Amino acid sequence: RTAPENTGDGSQGGGRENLLTGLIFLGIVLALGLAWLAPNVAASFAVGGAVFLSVLKMLVVPLVVTSVVCGVLSMGDVRKLGRPGGATLIYYFCTTAIAVVTGIILVNLFNPGEGIDGSAARVAAGAEVTAKLGEKAVSEPAGIGAIVENLLTMLFTDNLFASAAETDLLPLIVFSLAFAAVLTTMGAAVGTVTKFVTEANDVLMKFVLLVMWTAPLGVFCLVAGQFGEAAATGDFGEEMRKVGWYSATVLTGLAVHAFLTLPLILWVMTRRNPYRFLFQMGRPILTAFATASSSATLPVTMETAIEKAHVKRKSVDFVLPLGATINMDGTALYEAVAALFIAQTLVGSADAIDMGLTTQIIVAATATLAAIGAAGIPQAGLFTLIIVLNAVGLPVELAGLILSVDWLLDRFRTAVNVFGDATGSAIVEKFLPDEPVPTAAGTMIA
Ligand code: ASP
Repeated sequence: RTAPENTGDGSQGGGRENLLTGLIFLGIVLALGLAWLAPNVAASFAVGGAVFLSVLKMLVVPLVVTSVVCGVLSMGDVRKLGRPGGATLIYYFCTTAIAVVTGIILVNLFNPGEGIDGSAARVAAGAEVTAKLGEKAVSEPAGIGAIVENLLTMLFTDNLFASAAETDLLPLIVFSLAFAAVLTTMGAAVGTVTKFVTEANDVLMKFVLLVMWTAPLGVFCLVAGQFGEAAATGDFGEEMRKVGWYSATVLTGLAVHAFLTLPLILWVMTRRNPYRFLFQMGRPILTAFATASSSATLPVTMETAIEKAHVKRKSVDFVLPLGATINMDGTALYEAVAALFIAQTLVGSADAIDMGLTTQIIVAATATLAAIGAAGIPQAGLFTLIIVLNAVGLPVELAGLILSVDWLLDRFRTAVNVFGDATGSAIVEKFLPDEPVPTAAGTMIA
C-alpha cells in the first residue's frame, strides 16, 4: 500500500494534478460553448461520453468489493470498525437531515409554486410522467413502513453476480464487509486471498489514475452530448423559465449546503481548511456534474481523496463506496423542495393538501429515506420522489412539472452528493483506531 497516509491538507499532487483538474474544467466550458453555438455538432459527441461512462462504470464493482475488503483488513480486526462505522452512519444521517431542512426552509421562503396552476397541468403531465417513470413506479403506494421494508431488502441479494451485473452496490458492500470480517479471523491460513484482494485493489487504483487522464475528453463529450441535445431540441429555455423559481430554490439550497454547511462541519470536526478541501476535490465534483452519477464517479472520488486530499486510505475505503450509495444530501434536499413546490402549485385548487407542520415533517422524513434508497445513477432521485409525493397524498403526475429540468438539476445535486461523501471520509478519518506503534524491538503493538 503506497498511498501517503498523511492527514494534513497540503496538496502534494503538484502541478500535474492541478493541470488535470483545470483541463476537466476547460472540457466542461468548451462543451457548454459548443452546445450553445452548434447544438447538433455538440450532440454528436454523445458517443464519446457513453464510452467514458462505460469505462468508469466498469471499474466500480471490482473497486467497491476490493476496497471495502481492504478497508476492513486495514483495521486489523472487524471489531475496530465500531467507532468509525458509527461515526460514518451518524455523519450520513445528520448531513442528509440538515440538507432536507435547508431545502424546506428555502422552499417556504421562496414559494416557487406560487402563480403556477398545478391542477391544470395535472392532466397534460400524466402521460409524460408515466412514460418516463413507468406504470409500476407511478402506481405503487408507499407508507413509511413500506419504505423501510424496501430499504432493508435492498441490503441483501440472493445472487451476488446478478447484483454486480446491475451495479447494485449495497448488497456487494454488505457481502464484502462480511467476507472481510471472516477473513480477519482466519489469520495466516488465508494469506493468499488477503494478498490477492489487496494487490487487486492497488492495481485498480492505478487503473483509475490512468482513466483519469482521459477525463477531460470524456467529460467534454458527456457535457457536449447532453447539453447539445437539449439545445437542439429547442424549447429547453422556455421550460426552464416556467419552473425558474423552483430551479433557483434547488440550486440555492445546494449552494448553501456545499459552500456553508458542509465546510462548517468539516472545519469544526477536523480543522482542515474546507475551501481548500473543496478545491482539492474539484475533479470528482466536475466528473459528477458531467456523469450525473455518484456511482460512476466513485473511482475518481476515491483516487482523488487519497492522492490529492490525502485522506487516509482506510477511511476512504469504506466511507466512500457506502456513501456513493446511501449518502445523498443533494438528492434529499431536492426531493423535499420538489415535493413542497408541487404542493404549492395546488394551493387554492380542489387537490390542495394541508401544508402545515405535519406535512412538512412527513416530507422531511420521507425525503431522507427516499434519498437513501436512490441509486447513484442519473435521475434516480426523480423515481424515489414518487415515494415522497405518495406519502403526503400529492398526485404523482405532477412530477411532470419538473421533468424537463430534472436532467440539469440532477448534475448539480450529484456534485453535492459526491462532495458530501468526500467530506465524510475526511471527518471519519478522525474516528479511526490508533495506528499500531512500532516498538523498540521492531514489532508492532496495536
Ligand atoms: N444522480 C444522483 C446521483 O447519482 C441521484 C439522483 O439524485 O438522481 O447521485
